[in-house]
Amino acid sequence: MKAVAIIGGGPAGMSCALWCKLYGLEPVIIERTSELGGLQNLNCKTNAWVLGLLDHSGPEIAKLYQQHIEEKKIPIIYDAKLESIERQAEKFQIKLRGQEAQNFAAIVWATGTRIRGHESLSSIPGFEKIKELISFAPLDGVNPELYAGKTIAVLGGGDNAYQSACLIARAAKRVYLIHRSQARAQQQLINQAIELKNLTIYHHSEIRSLSTKPSDARLAHPEQPELTGASMRIARDEYNAADEALEADSVDLSQKLTLLILQDGQKIETEYIFARLGYLPNSEIITQFMPELELDSTNYVKVDPYTMQTSLAGVYAIGDLSDPINPCVPTAVASGTVAARDIEKLLSS
Ligand SMILES: Cc1cc2nc3c(=O)[nH]c(=O)nc-3n(C[C@H](O)[C@H](O)[C@H](O)COP(=O)(O)OP(=O)(O)OC[C@H]3O[C@@H](n4cnc5c(N)ncnc54)[C@H](O)[C@@H]3O)c2cc1C
Repeated sequence: MKAVAIIGGGPAGMSCALWCKLYGLEPVIIERTSELGGLQNLNCKTNAWVLGLLDHSGPEIAKLYQQHIEEKKIPIIYDAKLESIERQAEKFQIKLRGQEAQNFAAIVWATGTRIRGHESLSSIPGFEKIKELISFAPLDGVNPELYAGKTIAVLGGGDNAYQSACLIARAAKRVYLIHRSQARAQQQLINQAIELKNLTIYHHSEIRSLSTKPSDARLAHPEQPELTGASMRIARDEYNAADEALEADSVDLSQKLTLLILQDGQKIETEYIFARLGYLPNSEIITQFMPELELDSTNYVKVDPYTMQTSLAGVYAIGDLSDPINPCVPTAVASGTVAARDIEKLLSS
């Protein structure tokens, strides 16, 4: 049998599908949304990091990849919902909602990651009262002009946090960039942030509490451009689900300023907060259907980097789902290739 189930249609899943197809295997992409491309569909800026693709936005790259997959006539199941996965001797039987069960010789998990949302801050005292002031990437394409003359806090220490802080500092009166540990951003962004006179960086700073105090400031973030697409809808759904899980709050937020109190007792006043807290692996679905498959302490899938094989024979994990260190389009594409090469060997032996 040559059928390979690839669960997730982002750059990693599409790359693996292409290589499997070129090796004469029979890949099927199983995607939960109605589009391929994964997180690139949320990247409205130019993605300058993919060799050979000049001046393309994330959705444009996603579309080019999708066209390649369609050109090769690789079957894609959209809006898929997994109902069961059963291992039967040498094969896996997968049942999707509304479909006949299908047999596969190998399974590739490529479900990627999602934005860290409200759940990451909800344990901080006072969070419920100010949560409307917190804006989460990439749901909020940042327009610095909307924050002209304002005081802003950006939470996070990665590229995204540094990039947002530098961008907002172009217009804002003052920007506070607060992260729990060392900066993880690329050096050129850190240098840029250090140069900005109206940007203050707090390293190794945990937020102890959040509160509000009276002011003339208008709260709730100003209107942001509407980002569209199936992936964005899923991102919003997940974000809203985290939001709804929090207790409803009756405090009137109008005419208030936010006060962040750091662990060392320092107080910071701010009018808006941007959270850029990174990503969480979409591995719950794996735990649900393959509880014995090994994850690391942060729930990323453990793999052999030379084959992308997981702790279970015939089961692979590729892309951001198994790569907390270097998540990006080129590494996702490369890991799909590595897995396909190993699957080819596995199925021809
Ligand atoms: C705003 C933003 C900007 C970025 N900018 C860049 C950049 O400039 N350059 C760069 O190289 N990288 C960038 N990245 C990162 C890049 O998009 C990711 O590293 C890359 O998309 C990872 O690919 P992936 O296939 O591993 O996962 P993903 O792209 O996350 O794709 C996973 C796919 O799996 C699907 N899926 C999830 N769960 C299930 C399920 N249960 N069943 C079926 N399907 C499922 C998802 O719908 C999705 O289509 C950016 C990311 C974001 C969010």
